[in-house]
Amino acid sequence: MENKIIVANWKMNGSNELVDRISNLINDSLDIKSKEIIICPSYIHIELLIKNNTGRNFYVGSQDCSDKSDGAFTGEISASMLKNLGCSHVIIGHSERRSKYSESNQLLKDKVSEAINNNLIPIFCCGEEALERKNGTHFDKISEQLDVLFDINDLKSTIIAYEPVWSIGTNKTPSDKEIKDMHIYIKNYLMKKTSSNNISVLYGGSVNPENASSILKIPEVDGVLVGGASLSPEKFRLICSTI
Ligand code: PEP
Repeated sequence: MENKIIVANWKMNGSNELVDRISNLINDSLDIKSKEIIICPSYIHIELLIKNNTGRNFYVGSQDCSDKSDGAFTGEISASMLKNLGCSHVIIGHSERRSKYSESNQLLKDKVSEAINNNLIPIFCCGEEALERKNGTHFDKISEQLDVLFDINDLKSTIIAYEPVWSIGTNKTPSDKEIKDMHIYIKNYLMKKTSSNNISVLYGGSVNPENASSILKIPEVDGVLVGGASLSPEKFRLICSTI
C-alpha cells in the first residue's frame, strides 16, 4: 500500500496540554505527508483535538465504542455520537478490552457492525498470548479472532491491527521475520474469507522510534499502532516521519 498508516492509542492517558503539543507538532511536520496518521485519545479529549485543528493533517479516532445504537446504557458512547463529533476511526477489540473487560467475540462483532453502520472505520485488534506463540498455536488464535468479522456483510475499509499481547507495553517485539510471516498469514486468510486483498494490516506492540523503520519497511506491514511512544510528541513525530 502507498501511504503507511500510523495510529496513536493514548489509552487512559493524556491532557489538554498533550492534545495541543502533539497536534501542533504533527501539523507542523512536513516530512509526514505520505503517512495516514490517526490519533485516538480518550473520549473527553476527542472534541478538543478536533475543534483546535480544523486544518489538521491527521484523523481522529476513538479507542472503543458501544455495541448498542442508543438507549438505557449508562456510561456508554455510541458510534453515531463519535461520528457526529468528527471521528473517522474506532479501535475495537484491543487486548486490554478483551482481557480486562471480558469483551467477547460476539460483543466485538456487534461493535464492528455499529461502527460500520455509522461510517466509522474499525481498527480491529487481534493477537496471541505468549503461551500460544510458544505452543505454536498463534496462527489458529488469530484466525479464531478474525472469524467474527466474516458474519458481517460488508467490512468496507476495516483495518486489522496485529498486536501480540506479550509485546504490548513490554519492550519485546517479534522478529521482523515473525511479523512478516503473521502479516502474510492474516492477508491470505482475509483473502480466502472475503475475496478482498485490500484490507490494511498494521503491527502493534512496543513500536518506538528505534524499531519503527525496520518494521515499516516490511512490505506486508501497512502501518503501525503505537501505544506508549505515542504519548511523547517527539517520539511519535519521529515514528511518523520514519521512511
Ligand atoms: C497498544 O496499546 O496497542 C500498544 C501497542 O502499546 P505499546 O506500543 O505501548 O506496546
